[in-house]
Parts: sequence; C-alpha cells; structure tokens
Amino acid sequence: MPLCEMCGTEQDQLRPVSVEGTNLRLCDRCSRFGEEIRPAKTLPATLPGVPRTRTDRPSRETEYDLAPDFPDRLRRAREALGWKREELARRINEKLSVLEKLEKGRLRPPDTLVAKLERVLEIRLRERVEEGEAPRHTETRPLTLGDLIRRED
Ligand SMILES: [Zn+2]
Repeated sequence: MPLCEMCGTEQDQLRPVSVEGTNLRLCDRCSRFGEEIRPAKTLPATLPGVPRTRTDRPSRETEYDLAPDFPDRLRRAREALGWKREELARRINEKLSVLEKLEKGRLRPPDTLVAKLERVLEIRLRERVEEGEAPRHTETRPLTLGDLIRRED
C-alpha cells in the first residue's frame, strides 16, 4: 500500500498534490494543505511561440544619448571658458580624477552629471537618438533623357 508523503500513513489511494511548488502524493487528509494537481488541467511544457509585446524600451517622446564626441566637447568647452580641470571639477562638485576620466572618455557619466556639466559649461553634451530606421535616400526613379545623354559620354 502506498504511503502518504506527508503524514506517512498507508492509504488505498494517494492524490498528486502540489505543496509550495513540490509535487507530493498525499492522502485525502493531507491533500488539503496543497493544490491538487489535475492532469486534465496540466499545460503543455512548451507553449507554441507566443508573441510578446516589446517592453524593453520605455516610451518617451524623445530620447537623448550621450554625444559620441562627448570628451572633446567637454574639454573644448572647458578650455573656451579658460578653466583648468581643477576649476571645473570644483564647480560641478566632482573629484578631479572623475573629470580626467570623462575627458579621456574612460568614464560614462550618469545623466545627473551630464546635466550638471551642460548647465555649468552652457553646452549640449547629448544628442537626440533617432527612433526607428533612418530615412532611405536611395530612391528609384525612371531614367530621364538627361541621364541617358550623360551616359553616352
Ligand atoms: Zn497524509
């Protein structure tokens, strides 16, 4: 006779029961501690490809990203103001080492720091990120007489 996996008593029949994620075979008395597994309701292990909605990108009207030439912009703006790195570091309340790394492109600044630099230096360090594909310029148009004449050359 099978034994209940919870209380250990012998039973004529055991129920398959899920107790906190563990599948056990239990007697009637113990089966109420979990959810009875009904074979009819068992879902197939692998569902056919379910289209998932894209949620990886937060929807914002415009997105700005750090300019690729951010270190150059930063250095040029600072030099235009005649500030040494120490001066700028002091004004943005950051360590000199942080500023050095920024100007060497070895540190990607957080948004808050970028905003602070933009404000202090009165420049833009971010660029708008274009959504979707860039417009195509390869247009197909029928050949004109002018095209044909030039091809004769
Ligand atoms: Zn039991």
